[in-house]
Amino acid sequence: MDYQVSSNALEGRVILVTGAGAGIGRQAALSYAEKGATVILLGRTVKKLEAVYDEIDAMGAPQPAIIPLDMLGATRQHYLDMADTIEQQFGRLDGVLHNAGLLGVLSPFDQIDEKSHEDVMQVNVKATMLMTQALLPLLKKSDDARVVFTTSTVGHQGRAYWGSYAISKFATEGMMQVLADEMSDTKVRVNAINPGGTRTSMRASAFPGEDPETLKTPLDIMPLYLYLMAPEGIGEHGQCIDAQPKR
Ligand code: NDP
Repeated sequence: MDYQVSSNALEGRVILVTGAGAGIGRQAALSYAEKGATVILLGRTVKKLEAVYDEIDAMGAPQPAIIPLDMLGATRQHYLDMADTIEQQFGRLDGVLHNAGLLGVLSPFDQIDEKSHEDVMQVNVKATMLMTQALLPLLKKSDDARVVFTTSTVGHQGRAYWGSYAISKFATEGMMQVLADEMSDTKVRVNAINPGGTRTSMRASAFPGEDPETLKTPLDIMPLYLYLMAPEGIGEHGQCIDAQPKR
């Protein structure tokens, strides 16, 4: 499908992007800002977030905001405080892109390390759930809210040695489906994107021998990311959509 949105599709909307300092999240933040959104940049490395902030500023897009937060250590209270801050500062929230993710260690199943497993499940699943819970009251006030989760091909078909990461992405798809079902009668639309192999540092650490030039860039896969946040994508709900269906 050819996903198209208008040039000002996200004007007036406030969108939170997690893991906004690098890779796909960085590009999504830039692309949302380019279409008129006020973007809230959440991540753990302030320097990277500041660089994205400066890029958005230089584009002349609406002034973004930075929320420095390590989702590994954050508690429910951090997310509740964050929701309060967003409400006070912007008065609204129209979209969340749950993009931050941890690959963890790829290993045979019987060697999955307990601590590493907990970290991957914490960032990819539990923190994402707690953040969503805290933000839902604000999202429900929007006339047209969007929640977009990020899954992976190994989140719907298990693959040897992908261990905790695959388990966490199955959980992410489950979370998306449960929330979508509950939000059916509201104005909150809930979906998940599978980016497919994309040229980022996470992909390079999973496939160190691969030539990155053979991969799509984060910019290449943005049409779907924009569509699911824009008025054009309002009909999608409870779907897990591949950004690169032919891969
Ligand atoms: P990157 O590793 O390039 O970027 C991940 C982002 O998540 C970084 O900005 C990172 O912050 C942030 N992050 C990681 N841990 C935390 C944390 N504890 N708290 C806050 N932020 C954190 O990955 P990609 O851009 O490749 O991946 C983005 C999403 O897409 C992930 O969910 C990934 O699983 C998924 N995906 C990616 C694919 C690919 O081929 N690239 C394929 C399928 C799915 P920092 O920069 O500070 O480390």
